[in-house]
Amino acid sequence: MLTDKHGTDGLSRGKVAALRRAVVPSCEAEALVGFEQYHKGILEALREKDLHVYELLQAEYERLQSSIQLIAAENQCSPGVLAALGSVIQNKTTEGFVGGRYHAGCEVVDDVESLAVSRAKEAFGAEYANVQPHSGTAANQIVLTAMLGRGDKILSLGLDQGGHLSHGASVSFTGKFFEVENYYVDRQSFLLDYEAVRAKALACRPTLIICGASAYSRTIDFCRFREIAGEVGAYLLADISHIAGLVSAGAHPSPIDFAHFTTTSTYKPGGPRGGVILMGRDFDRKVRIGSREVTLAEHIQKTTFPGVQGTPYLNNAAGKAVFFKEMLSEEYRSRQFRIIENAQRLADSLAGLGYEVLTGGTDNHMVLVDVSRLRQGLTGAIAQKGLEQCGLIVNMNRLPYDTRGAAVTSGLRLGTAIVTKNGMGGEEMKMVAALIDSVLRGVEIGGEGRYRLDDDLRERVRAEVLGLCRRFPMC
Ligand SMILES: *Cc1c(COP(=O)(O)O)cnc(C)c1O
Repeated sequence: MLTDKHGTDGLSRGKVAALRRAVVPSCEAEALVGFEQYHKGILEALREKDLHVYELLQAEYERLQSSIQLIAAENQCSPGVLAALGSVIQNKTTEGFVGGRYHAGCEVVDDVESLAVSRAKEAFGAEYANVQPHSGTAANQIVLTAMLGRGDKILSLGLDQGGHLSHGASVSFTGKFFEVENYYVDRQSFLLDYEAVRAKALACRPTLIICGASAYSRTIDFCRFREIAGEVGAYLLADISHIAGLVSAGAHPSPIDFAHFTTTSTYKPGGPRGGVILMGRDFDRKVRIGSREVTLAEHIQKTTFPGVQGTPYLNNAAGKAVFFKEMLSEEYRSRQFRIIENAQRLADSLAGLGYEVLTGGTDNHMVLVDVSRLRQGLTGAIAQKGLEQCGLIVNMNRLPYDTRGAAVTSGLRLGTAIVTKNGMGGEEMKMVAALIDSVLRGVEIGGEGRYRLDDDLRERVRAEVLGLCRRFPMC
């Protein structure tokens, strides 16, 4: 197992060469279809075998290249990550973790998973990393299953306040099996009110406090959350799905040593789909499970498999390894700061055009806008659909204390990770804000959620969007 935080690449590469010599005797290597040759044909193979799916994938590529992606929960992984996801490693089945597998033939995938783990630890300054969770939701499910018994209490930010489904929403398994109490953002400022969180924690005495959000544009004070958790003897889970890239680059304070557990999805910061569980200084804290004493890290490991999941997705682990290396690059780190600058520019431009930006701005990649204040009858749903017709891809979002339901909403949630990756800067954010404004002021609003978009307006905005797409293609 690779435990050295540094130089793992060198160590691993030496081992890879030895592995390849052992697996393929050199006299036979030339007779085999080469690795590159095998994989180079994959798109052609798909076209030949299944033209329908091939054309759908092509259509998705063209959709992405001809529209502007402003969904805060999306990002764009590199071709390197795509290659790792689509290689033969996807065929390997095993169970368990490195050093404790239940199938033969793991010598290569052990190295892949160890590399992903060591790079994840380095990218986040963590003592423990688990790259097996199939998603961010699964990562949370593992932590909750590990630390809570049926009916135990969670204190979290409500779904309608910017929290996530997996933090205890009634429609999720988390709300079904656990007792859930919520804390709220302030009604006027829309900011987290830490005194109110503390009061709620003291009153309800939860076993686990969850912080981290899906729709919150300001810095989260993880240190404060840990103080509150400490005061009531609760564990703290920080779910940094949306801000993981910013955290790894130092563009947002890190929860790693404050929270007992930190979870994230890996696609939101720009990697493959999947999740990660990280731990800092509490990783070797002892807990009693039945009659045994184990460390928190061991307990999380056992709860991942066999507790919650079956076999790991090793192609996904390979994609995560590639992505964590990218995260450590100067290009990635500096980009995280530009993502925030772009979000701030977008927020300022929209505010300048008369929009109500929640909390007055942003500290991260996300801008929350109350569109219902712009015009009578305008909703998040109408805004989303109207913008989509013009090639501006956003998502409607319920705002805290929203009077409209989740399928209508008063808000939009915009994000700048993809546009920044593709090279857009402050000037383009101003242009994007102006395009959004033309659509939202131009859309004709009828009754009961109906709307109409003038053809000329749509074509004019679409043309400008296409111009931007040509200047800043997917990279
Ligand atoms: C997106 C998100 C998740 C879920 O991640 P999936 O990989 O989509 O399951 C969990 N927590 C938060 C805060 C999120 O924003």
